[in-house]
Amino acid sequence: MELYSIGVDLGGTNLRVASFDPNWGLRDSVELLTRRHAGRDAVIADLCDAVESLIRKFGGRQECVGIGVATPGPMELPEGRLLDPPNLPGWENFELRRELEKRLKERVVVENDANVAALAECLLGQGKELKFSSLCMLTLGTGVGSGIILNGQIWHGMNGMAGESGHVSVDPQGPMCACGTRGCLELSASATGLVRQAREHIALHPGCALAAKLREKPNFTATDLSTLANEGDRNAIQIFETQGKALGRGLAVLVNSLNLPLYVLGGGVTAAWELFAPKMFDELSQGSSMSCPPSWVRTPAFWAPVWCRSARMGPRRRHGCRPVIKADSLKRDCQPLPGRA
Ligand SMILES: [Zn+2]
Repeated sequence: MELYSIGVDLGGTNLRVASFDPNWGLRDSVELLTRRHAGRDAVIADLCDAVESLIRKFGGRQECVGIGVATPGPMELPEGRLLDPPNLPGWENFELRRELEKRLKERVVVENDANVAALAECLLGQGKELKFSSLCMLTLGTGVGSGIILNGQIWHGMNGMAGESGHVSVDPQGPMCACGTRGCLELSASATGLVRQAREHIALHPGCALAAKLREKPNFTATDLSTLANEGDRNAIQIFETQGKALGRGLAVLVNSLNLPLYVLGGGVTAAWELFAPKMFDELSQGSSMSCPPSWVRTPAFWAPVWCRSARMGPRRRHGCRPVIKADSLKRDCQPLPGRA
């Protein structure tokens, strides 16, 4: 029997469980909705049932080399203790790893989902393609997560909290975040943040065209908002431009601090790339020149790439990645920033 591993993506909306061969090839998968409203124990029972079904299907426990679980932070690692995950209410201070090892009687590794996305991008995606063993990945979804990979390893920081870039403040006058900081990147750049900004605009301007269109769909989503923006609604376009500026400020902090060769954006919100990317790069261009000496700015060899990974792509599929731009790296085949070549 061939060895296999099991990977679990425990999200606030979906619960995905899959088994993989030693070369990271997908063997089988189970996809369920996360029954958040049924409570934590029901979700854990669903997760364990799905894992057990794959173990039975692939020949038992002896060939199973381990189980990896990716879930939203914040959490303490390597203990796998969730702190207060906003997308999993009621899971505060839950010893996830210990509970799963007790139930499954297997070794379990728990990891922050953005860290796992970044590691996959490094090992199987653009990191592999461009031969970079270090990168930073931002995931734009319900929230904003990020993972930092240094020399092929996840950078965890002191206790697993590294890479909480969604809570970098990009607007000191902005709204208060649940984390206690004002103007966090997540409040502007996530799907939730886009909907919040639209609701605030409608409350201030109830007679505007955007309000009229969204009144027909009270539970509108970021996707509905991007549809309106693509149809030319000026207010919807402005919301994505605000998102782009916030992302540019957040990326500038990362670029200036980390000096990595590659930054990758992923998650469902990147479907609106054309709506937010131009303002993002404008802001990045303004905010990150401190990271490189003036002579570098004029040297094409020092443009660093920022890539966009489209939503719902498997880690081995690359056609959705678009090379774009950014300063201060060693990659030679990237476009220079407009006006700075
Ligand atoms: Zn915050």
